[in-house]
This record gives sequence, C-alpha cells and structure tokens, in this order.
Amino acid sequence: MARLIDGKQLSAQVLDTVATEVQQLKAEHSVTPALAVVLVGDDPASHVYVRNKVRSAGNAGIRSIEHRLDADTDQQTLNALIDNLNNDPDVHGILVQLPLPAQLDEDQIIAAIHPDKDVDGFHPLNVGALASGQSGLVPCTPLGSMIMLQQVHDDLSGKHAVVIGRSNIVGKPMAALLLQANCTVSVVHSRTRNIEALCRQADIVVAAVGRAELVKADWIKPGATVIDVGINAVEVEGKRKLKGDVDFAAVEPLAGAITPVPGGVGPMTIACLMKNTLTAARRQLSAGDTDKSNPAVAVGQS
Ligand code: NAD
Repeated sequence: MARLIDGKQLSAQVLDTVATEVQQLKAEHSVTPALAVVLVGDDPASHVYVRNKVRSAGNAGIRSIEHRLDADTDQQTLNALIDNLNNDPDVHGILVQLPLPAQLDEDQIIAAIHPDKDVDGFHPLNVGALASGQSGLVPCTPLGSMIMLQQVHDDLSGKHAVVIGRSNIVGKPMAALLLQANCTVSVVHSRTRNIEALCRQADIVVAAVGRAELVKADWIKPGATVIDVGINAVEVEGKRKLKGDVDFAAVEPLAGAITPVPGGVGPMTIACLMKNTLTAARRQLSAGDTDKSNPAVAVGQS
C-alpha cells in the first residue's frame, strides 16, 4: 500500500507557517501582506475558487481585496484596474482569476501585472526566471507539488520524473522545478507515442492532463511516487464526484506514495498562493521604493 501524501494536512502546516511569518512581518515592519483578487464574469467554478482563496488569505492573516467585474468588461477597464493595483503600495499580490471571458486577451493581462506582484507566477519575466534558475515567483500548483514530493524524497537528485501534460500553468513549470532539483525529466503530452512505457520507467509521475483516471496501474513502476494534479468532475451513479487523472484505486496498491483527489494538490495550490503573497510582500519591502513602471529593473532587484 502506498504512503498517502495528505494535501489537507500538509497545506494546513504550510498555512500555519505563513500565518506565523505574516505576524512577524506585521510586528517588525507594520506591513500586512495584501492580495488583490480580480474576478471577471460569472463562471461558477471561478467564484468557488475565489471564495476559497479569500477564506485562506483570512486564515493566514493576509488582507484580501476582491474586485468583481461584469462579464462584458473590456480590456481597457481591466488594464486600468491592474495599473492601479500595480501602483498601490498597500497591495503586494495580484491574482486575476482565469479563464477570462473571450473578449479579453489573457496573455496581455498577465503581462500587465507587475512581475513582483504576480503571485500566480505566470508573467513572462517570472516564467523566464524559473527557466533560467533565477529567483522569481513560481506558479502555485507546481510549487505545492514540489513540497509534496519533498515529503517523500529528501533528495530528488538523479530521479527520473515523467510529467504528463505541458501546460504553461502546470506541466512546463513543474518540469522546470524538477530539473532544478536535479531530476532527469521527461515531459509527455497529447502527441507523445507510447506514454505508458515512458511512465513505467519513472521514479516520479506527475499527472496534469484533465482526463479522469487516465493513468492506470500498468503505467506505474512499483514503488514510484505519483502526484495527481488533475481535477475532473464526473458523474458516478447520478452523483457529481471529483476524480484525479490517476486511477487511484488501481494505482495505490503498487505506488510507493500517492496524492489523493480531492485533498491532494488542490489545497496545496491555495496554501502556496498565500506563501507567494508573503514572499511578494517581503520582496517589495526589501526592494523599497521600486519604480513599478519598470518591471525589468524591479525583477533584477528581487
Ligand atoms: P491543460 O488542458 O492546459 O493541459 C493539459 C495537457 O495535457 C496538455 O499539455 C495536453 O498535451 C496533455 N494531454 C491531453 N490529453 C492527453 C493524453 N491523452 N495523454 C497525455 N497528455 C495529454 O490543463 P492544465 O491547466 O494543465 O490542467 C490539467 C489538470 O490539472 C486539469 O484537470 C486541471 O483541472 C487540473 N489542475 C489542478 C490544479 C490544482 O490546484 N490541483 C491546478 C491547475 C490545474
């Protein structure tokens, strides 16, 4: 039987540490880290995510400021809000909940967020920093997945990791973090041939696909560590259930360690958002009066 990597328990520990450090920052510098959350439109899933993030911020002692905009908001209006938040010294992190309505250019909005306040780690400068091993803000889901892996492996050096999925928010940054930890990394995706055979060679499998129970028992080497990022809503006997990308019942008996869904990577993602907000506040504090209109200079100082 695999060791269960409990995301609920581990995320509570991460949040406790963040809460303690937030109190220290308040006591020593009279600064309360603040996260601005921007939600455009009425996507029900996005509303749930935002509610969870705001609740978590409260639990960690982080101030959250919600900006809810109508579904027909235009690019100029959203850019003006981002600009205000970039220039507000009392806001340390900016999160624009994705996906945005179709009329909005997501890439342009992500690039408009100041990299020092980009707590999602999606800004091209933060992406570049991660790829080149420099300090920056790292996307929350891969960051949480790495913390989970470190529960099982003291040293990841030399391990063969297979990441299934190559999205900008999970697969690619996950691969970059594993590479930084000296893993040998393979990234497989929708066009990869013979995925099962590649996965079977892996000491670590990270599944970030969005297909319920895609990863079967014969994809996994006995004893391997399996991180299941997938969140898929499926109907089971008329009831809506959340399933991961891994067939948990089949894989759990032979894996060395495995994350559950729900209660795995999901809560770690939110905890890492709070961790990133604290990191952003600290960096802005130490950078002092940085000119927020010049991202390249600001990132160089962090
Ligand atoms: P995405 O749709 O952007 O990317 C999916 C990736 O899977 C693509 O790179 C694609 O090439 C690959 N893929 C598709 N079909 C495949 C197949 N049959 N075999 C191998 N690869 C295949 O998705 P995403 O944003 O990376 O999210 C992936 C999953 O993780 C989703 O279920 C999403 O809900 C979940 N997710 C969870 C969290 C969390 O906090 N736990 C955060 C982000 C995403």
